[in-house]
Order: sequence, then C-alpha cells, then structure tokens
Amino acid sequence: MLAEIQRLARPMRLMEVCGTHTTAICLSGIRGMLPPEIELVSGPGCPVCVTPNCYIDQAIAYCKLPGMIVASFGDMLKVPGTASSLAREKEAGVNVRVVYSPLDAVQLAVDNPLYRVVFLAVGFETTAPAVAAAILTAVKKGLRNFFVLSSHKQVPPALRVLLALPETKLDGFLLPGHVCMITGLAPYAFLPVEYHKPAVVTGFGALDILRAIMLIMMQVSGVAETRLENAYPSVVRPDGNPVAQQMLEVVFEPDDSEWRGLGVIAASGLRLRREYQDYNAEYNLPVAVAESREPEGCRCGDVLRGFVQPPACSLFGKACLPVQPIGACMVSAEGACAAWYRYGQGR
Ligand code: SF4
Repeated sequence: MLAEIQRLARPMRLMEVCGTHTTAICLSGIRGMLPPEIELVSGPGCPVCVTPNCYIDQAIAYCKLPGMIVASFGDMLKVPGTASSLAREKEAGVNVRVVYSPLDAVQLAVDNPLYRVVFLAVGFETTAPAVAAAILTAVKKGLRNFFVLSSHKQVPPALRVLLALPETKLDGFLLPGHVCMITGLAPYAFLPVEYHKPAVVTGFGALDILRAIMLIMMQVSGVAETRLENAYPSVVRPDGNPVAQQMLEVVFEPDDSEWRGLGVIAASGLRLRREYQDYNAEYNLPVAVAESREPEGCRCGDVLRGFVQPPACSLFGKACLPVQPIGACMVSAEGACAAWYRYGQGR
C-alpha cells in the first residue's frame, strides 16, 4: 500500500473527520510513512472538542443548583469552561458524577429520588442512540427527576460548512466508521456527488487507515472514479443500524447547534422532540449563564477547522498540556492536540 501511495503521490490535503482516526494516525506514525506531499488534517470529530464553552458553562451552572446531580462522561470534566471546569467544581464539593453510560445516569435518578439528575449528552450519531434509549427507559420507569442537556451533533452538516471555507482546501475525506455504523452511507453521498470529493469510510487500525488513504489517492489520481467507498464493510452496513436510527428518530429531531470553531450550524444538532420535553433540562430547568469566552491564545477552532496542526498553537506543549489543558482539544484522548502531544506527529 505504501508503494502504491508513493506512486500516486501528489500535493493533497486529506481530512480525517474522526478524533479516533487522529489518535490512531499519531499513535501509528502513519504521517511519517507518507510522501511529504500528502497532508493529513484533523476535523471536527472529537465530541468533547466540538462542544462549545457555553455548554460547559451551562453544565457548571446546573451543578451549582441545590438538589442537583450532574452526570457526565469523564472526558467532559476536565474541559475548561469560561471561568471553571466541572472537575474544579467537583473538587469544590458540588455533585458531579462520572458515568460510563447514559443508563447509569438513569439509575442515579432512580437511586436518588430527592435529587434532579442532569445528564450531559454530548457526542455524535454514535452516542445519541444510547441517550435515546436512556430517555425511553426513564419514560418506562415513570421517572420525573431525570433530564438531558443535549449538545448532540450530526457530522454531515459540519462537513458542508468546512467545504465552503476557502482556507480549508480539502481534497478528500476519511470518514468515521463508528458514526457510519449507525447512519449508514447515505448521509455522506453528497461529498462526491455535490463536491466531487473522494470519501472513504474506514476503521481504526493503521492498515485500515493506510488503505483508505490509498483508495482516496486512487480516486484523486483518476485510477478510480470519485465516489463514496465503504472500506469498513465488516462493521458498516450500507443502511447502517436501523434499530438505532429508529430510536434516534423517535426521541430526537434536528436542531441548529453551536460547534466550537464552526459557530452555529443549521440542523447539525439533535434536540428532544416535544413528546419528550419533560426530560429536556433546558426546558424544565432554565439557568442563567454569563457570556462565554474561549481561552485566550487557544487555537482549538483553527485545529477543528483543519486550518492548522496543533503545534501551530503557541501554547501547545508549554502552557497547555494534557495534565493542565487550556483548550478542549488537549483534554480528550480523541483531541488532536492531546494526540499530537502524546504520540508526536510521526514525521
Ligand atoms: Fe487549544 Fe491547547 Fe490545542 Fe492550543 S494546544 S489549540 S490551547 S488545546
């Protein structure tokens, strides 16, 4: 594959949309194996990274309310908000709990009937069905103290925004295998059809990623036609997971959503349908939040748009470290800055 990539090499920028791909690329040193003409840039595919500061600030406001438990996946705790983080608030004594599944948050609500439990629902189409399942479980149990603060995001509208940015200049996409496992291939058909961009769905091993790069290069160089290709058929079925899709459809509907670095993107989020409004934290538990700001000097937005690689940020590896992150991209294992810091660029 490397020989074929070398043979077809020409200047090109490819985006790995998924944060897990970014980590796999850094960990395996794939960048160092590629001809220098091929640039791999990270996209807006790390759930914690794309969640804007206003959401973190809102979550912090919730955890300070009396009689409240905020339940979250662990990564979210360390993400700095405008003035604090959930981890810092937890140290100060507020009731923030780390859960491994949205169903754990439902159980928290069952076990703590005198508390209101707010689950921080972040992530893409991969995570949202589990949150839908949690809400349906809460309905079955007749719970009235379980709420969801949704910042779920859908990937395709963000890719349209990226393609409209002149600075990004992308020649092809490595598409997220886990997201496509749920959605199927159809939501990405617009990439070759409307934008004439090669797009390959791939897995997370080094060989999976190399193969996807080779397939994209074959398309770019005209050896193969420009199309959407599924290079992960062992996991991704063309029609995805219909059960998960149906659960999503029942509980959520598209909504405008704010992304770190990309702003508000129409119909890129998921909000609870009116029938499930009783479980909507924003609707039932309004909180006042002061204006949110991004950390000074942090270039997470530019990293998530694929404009720059993490070392272009002057804080990278100096003031901003995984043990003391200044921006969200240094927090999660899927964050581009954390991956570059931990594993290097491989070249
Ligand atoms: Fe933001 Fe830190 Fe990455 Fe700089 S190195 S872009 S401050 S997360």
